[in-house]
Amino acid sequence: MPELVVISGKGGTGKTSMVASLAVLARQAVLADCDVDAADLHLVLEPQIRRRQTFTGGNKARIKPGHCTACGKCEELCRFEAVYFDGPGNGQAPRTFRIDPAACDGCGVCVRFCADNAIEFGPAVDGEWFVSDTRCGPMVHAQLRPGAGNSGKLVSIVRSQAQQIARERGGGLILIDGSPGIGCPVIASITGASRVLAVTEPTLSGEHDLDRVFLLVRHFGIPVTVCVNKCNLNAEIAQRIERKAQAAGAAILPPIPYDSAVTDAQRKGMAVVELGDSPAARAIRQGWSALCQQIS
Ligand code: SF4
Ligand code: SF4
Repeated sequence: MPELVVISGKGGTGKTSMVASLAVLARQAVLADCDVDAADLHLVLEPQIRRRQTFTGGNKARIKPGHCTACGKCEELCRFEAVYFDGPGNGQAPRTFRIDPAACDGCGVCVRFCADNAIEFGPAVDGEWFVSDTRCGPMVHAQLRPGAGNSGKLVSIVRSQAQQIARERGGGLILIDGSPGIGCPVIASITGASRVLAVTEPTLSGEHDLDRVFLLVRHFGIPVTVCVNKCNLNAEIAQRIERKAQAAGAAILPPIPYDSAVTDAQRKGMAVVELGDSPAARAIRQGWSALCQQIS
């Protein structure tokens, strides 16, 4: 089953707009939104949720207010400054301690040293993942709670669910909206994929981010295709990026010009290729033809 993962060195390069258009052009691929820290593919594809499941990322500590004697040991020991002296009072103390779940790293130290056995420790619900229907095919997506960690683990779940759906359908393309950057979530998005499509913009930071993407995909031995979005914002850097991409052995898609049709499409909750024959839509269609050959 071919897996195409669309990534960018950072957010805001037009990656998700590109995925939405490719989803339309692919006609019934299995879609996976692995950008779990800032998922927004659902804004364009309007998924109808068929199944939802909670995601437990890791263990967290929680103080039982009725058992806490307010000795302060947990606050003293917590290196993550997750303990606050603002919990409700009980028969033994007018105020107790409380743990902020967003700050708790789950190290378990406070649990071990609480002499009053007043701290619970166990898996915390860090988000949800969903299997949905969209007009472009089935989609697996997720929502991570603000401040929750373990997004790499959630990405792996989203991806494996998409693979399972593709197997049940007898194969076909899996199109993945990957996480931006080069950290753990993006590594979880791309390992073992058939090809990475790196969307970038012609700025110095876009160029620098793409260098890091090249290092990453080379490390994992994944073929890469590059597409410069909003290419006419700086033609000189756009050409330099394409030369670098060629030197790195990457395939290159036709660059996409800056086009107000992209913003119009976003406002209407559509992919730009659904909106008509704008310059951006034409470039994306040409790019899709080239991509089909690269992933076949
Ligand atoms: S160590 Fe236990 S008893 Fe002491 S403040 Fe913390 S939770 Fe309360
Ligand atoms: S489990 Fe670790 S990080 Fe969480 S509150 Fe206890 S000491 Fe702090």
